[in-house]
Amino acid sequence: MSQDSRFTAWTRRDVLGMLGIGVAAAALPEWASAAPTFPKGAVIRTILKDHAPEALAGGATLFHEHMSFPPDFLPRWMKYAAETQAANRPSNAPPAGRGATPPTLAPAPSGPYFMQDLDVMSEELAIAKGEGISCIVDGGHPDMGRDLTFLRRLSMKSGMPIVAGAGFYTQPFYPKEIGAMSEGQVLEALIRQVESDPVGAFGEIGSWDDITKDERKVFRAVGKAHVATNLPIFTHTGIPGKSALEQLDILEDVGVDPKRVVIGHLGNLVDPNVQVHRAICRRGAFVGFDRQGGQGDAQQVPMVMALLEAGFADNLMFSSDFSAANQLKRNNKEMGYAKTLTVFVPKLKAAGASDEVLRQIMVDNPRRFLAFVPKIKRKA
Ligand SMILES: [Zn+2]
Repeated sequence: MSQDSRFTAWTRRDVLGMLGIGVAAAALPEWASAAPTFPKGAVIRTILKDHAPEALAGGATLFHEHMSFPPDFLPRWMKYAAETQAANRPSNAPPAGRGATPPTLAPAPSGPYFMQDLDVMSEELAIAKGEGISCIVDGGHPDMGRDLTFLRRLSMKSGMPIVAGAGFYTQPFYPKEIGAMSEGQVLEALIRQVESDPVGAFGEIGSWDDITKDERKVFRAVGKAHVATNLPIFTHTGIPGKSALEQLDILEDVGVDPKRVVIGHLGNLVDPNVQVHRAICRRGAFVGFDRQGGQGDAQQVPMVMALLEAGFADNLMFSSDFSAANQLKRNNKEMGYAKTLTVFVPKLKAAGASDEVLRQIMVDNPRRFLAFVPKIKRKA
C-alpha cells in the first residue's frame, strides 16, 4: 500500500494475512514460538463462559469498546464535556473543539437506539468477527446504563465473545450515594458486582477532569477490589493526560501490579516525545490508544511508532471506544467495530511497523492483560 494514495481500509483477507491466520500462518511459524504464556488456571471471563486465554488466539481482542448504552448516555456525556471545557478554557482562548475524535452524534435515528437494537448490533459484531476480531471488552457498567442482559443476548446471537466491565465510571456519572460512602463501602459494592455478574474486568474507571476526592476514593477501592479478585483494570482519562500518572500511583499504592492496568485514552495526549506514555510503559503498565480508526489517527501513528522504537511493544493496547451510530459499518463502510484492526493497524504498517509486532499488540497483549486467575467463582 502506498502512503500517498487515498487510504483504503483493509479487507478481511488483508487482516487475516497480517494476523497470520489461514494461508499465511504456515509460512510464518515463528509467531507460534513467540506465543505468550499464561499463569496456571488463568481465564478470560466473558459473559457466556470462561475461556482459556489460548482459545482466543485466532483473532484480535479489543479491550475498550461499548455495545450497550442507553439513548441518553452520549447526550449527557457531551453536555458534561462542553461544561468542563468551558470551565477550563482561558478567557483569551479561541473557541476550541474537544481533543481527538469527539464522539459525534448521528442525526436522531428513527426506530430503536442502535445499542438497544439486537438485530443491528449482532449484524455489526458478526461482520467484525469476520474481519478478524475474536473478543470484545465492553467498558460499561451499571452507572453508565450498561444492560448486561442485552450484552448476553448479543453475544449469543452474533457469536462474538464479550467481556463485561464492572466498576464506577467518573464523577458526573456516579450514583448519588458515592459521596457519602466510605472507601470500604465502595470496595464492598465492587465485590458485589463481581459476585453477582460474570464480569471480566474493572473498567472503564475514570477521572473526568482533575481527579476528584470521590474519584480517588473509587480508584483506591478498585485497586483493592483487584487485589481481592484479580480482575484487570482499564481506565479513562478525561482531559488528555490529566491525572494519568496519578491514576497509576493510586492503584500501585494499594498493591496493584502495573502489568494488570491499562491507562486509557492516551492517544488523545498528543506529544511527539511521548513523555507520559513512556513513563507509564517504564513502570510496566499498558498505554491505551483506544479511540482509533478515525480522524485522530494521523497524530497517533507517530506516537505509536516512537513507542515501538523505544522498545515498548509489550505495553501498547489498541481499541476504538466505539460509541456512536455513525461509526457503524452499515453507515460507513470504512468503520465498524473492527476499525482499529481494519483502519488504524494498516496505517501503522504503512509507517513501518511489522506484521509480527502488530499481531502481538492486537492478539497477544490484550489476552495477557485480560487473563486472570479467578479468586471469585463466576455466578453463571
Ligand atoms: Zn469508553
